[in-house]
Amino acid sequence: MGDRDLKMLFRGHSASPYFMAGQQVLMAAWRKAKRSKALPGTWREVGWVLTLRTFLQKIGCLEVAAWRWTTRLGGIIDLDPSSGDFDQTSGAVGHNTREAWRLTHFERWLARSDARIDSRQCQAIIYNEQRCTLTRKLVANDSHRFAVVTGASVSPQKFEVMLSHKDRRNGREPNTILCPWCKEARGADWEHMVSKCNASGKPPELAPPTDLLQRRLGWASIARAHSYNFAVLDWMAEVRQRILEERYEHMSSAPKVQGTGRIAAAATAASYSSSNDHSNRQTAKGAAAATSAATATATAAATRQPQKRKAASQSSGRSASAGGDQKAVTSSSTKSKLSTPAKKRKCSEVLNGCPPLKKCRRSTTAAVPGGVVS
Ligand SMILES: [Zn+2]
Repeated sequence: MGDRDLKMLFRGHSASPYFMAGQQVLMAAWRKAKRSKALPGTWREVGWVLTLRTFLQKIGCLEVAAWRWTTRLGGIIDLDPSSGDFDQTSGAVGHNTREAWRLTHFERWLARSDARIDSRQCQAIIYNEQRCTLTRKLVANDSHRFAVVTGASVSPQKFEVMLSHKDRRNGREPNTILCPWCKEARGADWEHMVSKCNASGKPPELAPPTDLLQRRLGWASIARAHSYNFAVLDWMAEVRQRILEERYEHMSSAPKVQGTGRIAAAATAASYSSSNDHSNRQTAKGAAAATSAATATATAAATRQPQKRKAASQSSGRSASAGGDQKAVTSSSTKSKLSTPAKKRKCSEVLNGCPPLKKCRRSTTAAVPGGVVS
């Protein structure tokens, strides 16, 4: 499942209403101080001053004096016109808060090491602003790359474990799960699929990254060339796409016995809940593509398909820029495929603002078998 803080980080500050509102208060105060050449107000714990103080504290700024904060990356926010540090541009003040906000989200992910393998593996990583920017540029509009860098890739091994939680009778030990490509046991985790599997079709010239964060989540390394960073993330995105396509191809061709439907439904729900909105669209498309590809060729999935991947990322860029245009989805999906995300969206609209996840997921599960198994 993608990490919520990493998703916030890569969707950007402008997708966070909390950040945007807090930033408005800060900049209004800054403009007032600039115009009046006096303190923007009375320093106290009520009204907008309290809003400002709470906001800056929540995004990781340290209040060192009245109207003065420092960020842990060395930035200063000073709203006292008599201070030497007041003389910053509004751009610099804004940059300091955005940087602090990103660092806070990154560290929240790092602090989740008891629950997340990726976080656990990257404990030695120190936040780097440049790295974050480079990675964001690599991701661009591609939903699979977005999923990879936010930890939403689900390896076959992880997937089986998730299924066995949903359905105890199906429970299997993680290390008995075969890699779908090389059929080796104990080898279906993310690391194996990305870099160790000898049947993955990985370009031989692509050496595994030595940097932990790049190795696990495909983040750009500032010590490596752009072409290498791009190749690593693009390969990981391709691995994720193929795992998903094969997963749904397998499911759509499975016989319609009672149990299978339920497993497929649980699996689809698990996969949907593990991705962001972009990925939902892409996953539905991937499932549709896999379904039609299943009849065309069963072996094609076993070989590497760079063109297909390229086409998919182009189309994902198109649908993303269309801003959720349903037509982009409809063109590559059947009506029944479309109904699942549409229902899910409707469901979350109705339940918006409540803690509806459980209820929502259950009804999504109920809606799925007709769409995917048929
Ligand atoms: Zn393998």
